[in-house]
Amino acid sequence: MRIARWLAAAALFSAMPVQAQAPTGAPKLVVVLSVDQFSSDLFSEWRGKYTGGLKRMASGVVFPGGYQSHAATETCPGHSTITSGIRPGRAGIAVNDWFGMRADGYGEIYCVEDEDIPGSTHDNYTVSLKHLSADWQTLGDRMKSLPGSTTRVFAVSGKDRGATLMAGRKADQTLWYDWRAKGFTTYIGADRSRVSTAVPALAAVNARIAQWIARPVIPPLPPQCQARISPIQVGKLTVGDGAEDGPRTDTPENMAKDYRTTRALDLATLDLAESMVAANGLGRGAGTDVLAISLSATDYIGHSYGTEGPEMCGQMVSLDARLGQFFAMLDRQKMDYVVALTADHGGFDAPERHSEHAYPSASRAPLSLAAPVLSQMLAKQFGWQGALIENRALGGDYWFTPNVPGNRRAEAAAWLKAELERQFAGKVAAVFAKADIAELPAPTGNPALWSLAQRVRASFVPDRSGDIYIALLNGQQPMPAGIRGYVATHGSPWDYDRRVPILFWRKGMAPFEQPQPVETVDILPTLASLVGLPIEAGSVDGRCLDLAAGPSTTCR
Ligand SMILES: [Zn+2]
Repeated sequence: MRIARWLAAAALFSAMPVQAQAPTGAPKLVVVLSVDQFSSDLFSEWRGKYTGGLKRMASGVVFPGGYQSHAATETCPGHSTITSGIRPGRAGIAVNDWFGMRADGYGEIYCVEDEDIPGSTHDNYTVSLKHLSADWQTLGDRMKSLPGSTTRVFAVSGKDRGATLMAGRKADQTLWYDWRAKGFTTYIGADRSRVSTAVPALAAVNARIAQWIARPVIPPLPPQCQARISPIQVGKLTVGDGAEDGPRTDTPENMAKDYRTTRALDLATLDLAESMVAANGLGRGAGTDVLAISLSATDYIGHSYGTEGPEMCGQMVSLDARLGQFFAMLDRQKMDYVVALTADHGGFDAPERHSEHAYPSASRAPLSLAAPVLSQMLAKQFGWQGALIENRALGGDYWFTPNVPGNRRAEAAAWLKAELERQFAGKVAAVFAKADIAELPAPTGNPALWSLAQRVRASFVPDRSGDIYIALLNGQQPMPAGIRGYVATHGSPWDYDRRVPILFWRKGMAPFEQPQPVETVDILPTLASLVGLPIEAGSVDGRCLDLAAGPSTTCR
């Protein structure tokens, strides 16, 4: 009897009309937002305090534990996944910078530079997407490739890699902040007159930045951040004291660099995004347009001051408010737009504050993991001369230089791995030789359950990844001491660096929350399905996330 009554009630319930007016058809504008270093931890800490754009995003479809599932949790690998649907290893982006041969000799190669251009150096480079694989196609590239496509693609970021890696190869305009140019710029060789027509605010924004560089002003800390003031000593530096260090005033170059560590960087980025929308009627054309925005200030502020101080509070308050204005501007255009917001990687606070905040096991990696130390170990064993190993941080990838003979590299890596495991037993989490990772299949399934080796495999690129990979202990920062601009960082294979929120919002969309892991590579197939873009099976690593809360589906 009770079952029969339940069945009758269930039948009645399922016959009831759906109340929410769910959006139908393709949105006219897809906005993809990346907040650099916006970890799931930061999102959960701030979620209840947002009142602006981030509150709106948190009221849509929320995946609080998305994954940048790979080990190389840095800006380039992370951004390479967001609009492409493929993992960094497949995209060709092993890390931000790897070591190899360039026009000016053996050295560091940046993910979005053309190192073959004569006269270019690692510090003075030409921005290029040449390192991206053939499998790497952004949402914008794919939409523009459709026959008869009218899609426009615009992108803007505080970093060149943030803009170019979300925009793709066919974007109409890609702008980024460049401290060398002391303002926002675009590709060398691009038609500058077209830029100023397409982004009319560019001249005014750059004039404002030039003025700031000439006479820097740090805005006061928002009142709600005063309570967070609590000075922390990091080596010789003090952070968290509420006095955001003004920019270095020794050279205009340093002032142009330090502009990036201000809340103003994201405000300028969104000014340009609004100009792109207004001047080009994005979202009001015949097809669906794409606007990719990567907001970099959270990352610079996280590196400079850590994630838990008044400085990050100021950034969260400022970003939330400005994003609210940005969405209000889109609302005024009276168009149907969808927003996907995520991050390129997470982050971890300075160990010095962790120990004051009830987490004393956070630490800094030992200097004995520096490349010259490992280089000496190899030299002693094999008798080779000169620098044998290069790296960029303690732990992570280590590259053999050309002084290690090509036919002895596998042998040297296997020996060094065994030696490191012996010498650093209990002091590092794992050591992998290149061959250990190369033989693994590309990982699939729940990224929270992947082994460390699988995480390394997801950002492994045979000719760009290191010969040795050292996974630091959980909670260990990969630098020995805090320096100005760099007291905390990310880049580890641990979840505080891998977990990022993935948030979708569209007017009329019924909200729901899914706490189980999804991945940033799921964003492209999800958006593709919304706009009716076909995706060939196997061409992406992610899956479509069904954004309909009820029995209908947005995955076609
Ligand atoms: Zn960073």
